[in-house]
Amino acid sequence: MNKPITFAVIGGDPRQAKMAEMLARDGHKVLAFALEKSEMPPCIKQVSEIREAIFPADCIVLPLPVTGKPGYLNTPLSGEVCTLDEVFRLIGKKQLVCAGRVQADTREAAEKYGIEVIDYFAREELAILNAVCTAEGAIAIAMDNTAITLCNAKILVLGFGRIGKVLAHRLRGLGADVYVSARSHADHAWIKAYGYKPMHTYNLVGKLKDFDVIINTIPSLVVTEELLAEVDKDCLLMDLASKPGGIDFAAAARLGLSAIWALSLPGEAAPFTSGEIIRDTIYNILQEREENS
Ligand code: NAP
Repeated sequence: MNKPITFAVIGGDPRQAKMAEMLARDGHKVLAFALEKSEMPPCIKQVSEIREAIFPADCIVLPLPVTGKPGYLNTPLSGEVCTLDEVFRLIGKKQLVCAGRVQADTREAAEKYGIEVIDYFAREELAILNAVCTAEGAIAIAMDNTAITLCNAKILVLGFGRIGKVLAHRLRGLGADVYVSARSHADHAWIKAYGYKPMHTYNLVGKLKDFDVIINTIPSLVVTEELLAEVDKDCLLMDLASKPGGIDFAAAARLGLSAIWALSLPGEAAPFTSGEIIRDTIYNILQEREENS
């Protein structure tokens, strides 16, 4: 992304603050609003009125997730309270608007003003690289919450999607004995091809004894009470999947098992890298629009 343009970065957490800094260091003009609790370098102009950021911008970058409470912009680094209406009514039809995890309330608010919002969180390149941040965050939690090394630990990763793939690879690199569950024949073949031990996600009964760590990435209840009853008391259970998750936490508590639901790891474990991933995704969106115009 070489041609310098003007960005408005409105609201968000340390990921957006870091992204703003990186955009400015790349030579773009960056106007920031509702990020005043974050330390910004002088190359970023922090403005006190939202219109001062929006009017001159070619591209407006809204937070991930775009809303905190429904109808309101997510502004954890600011004292500003801003409704979506207040944002979208100021935006012109020619301006590019990018936001993260766009839900119906945001789409409806934008449509009222004829504004199209591009969801950068829905982009595959962002999801893949976020899997790296998530896997590293999960490994840090596993290290902090076990009394053993991950080297030589017997670890099961449930699911072989983006996070499952990256996590299995990193655990293997640490010397763990890695088992991976999946439901398709093709995934079982890939799991074998990479040298992990395959298990079938729907055929785990009688097979969960002796694991030191079990990490779920499947967003559907797969680790039921029946399966949890087999798990060793010293085993660390971790769920990375978004709601509804894949582990029966109430049953885990009843059985006295240690279970952690570790969500939002990219922003927590690696806010700077997450900001970089968002910046690169926005550059890709801009480049595609230029190629298609
Ligand atoms: P993904 O690439 O879609 O992978 C999901 C995996 O779960 C695939 O192996 C898929 O199998 C399997 N799966 C889905 N539904 C299933 C079901 N009903 N029964 C059995 N297997 C099922 O997703 P991902 O990017 O790895 O993300 C995994 C989860 O983590 C999502 O919920 C995502 O929102 C969440 N996430 C969490 C964090 C965090 O910080 N904790 C960060 C990013 C994402 P098939 O391929 O056979 O469908």
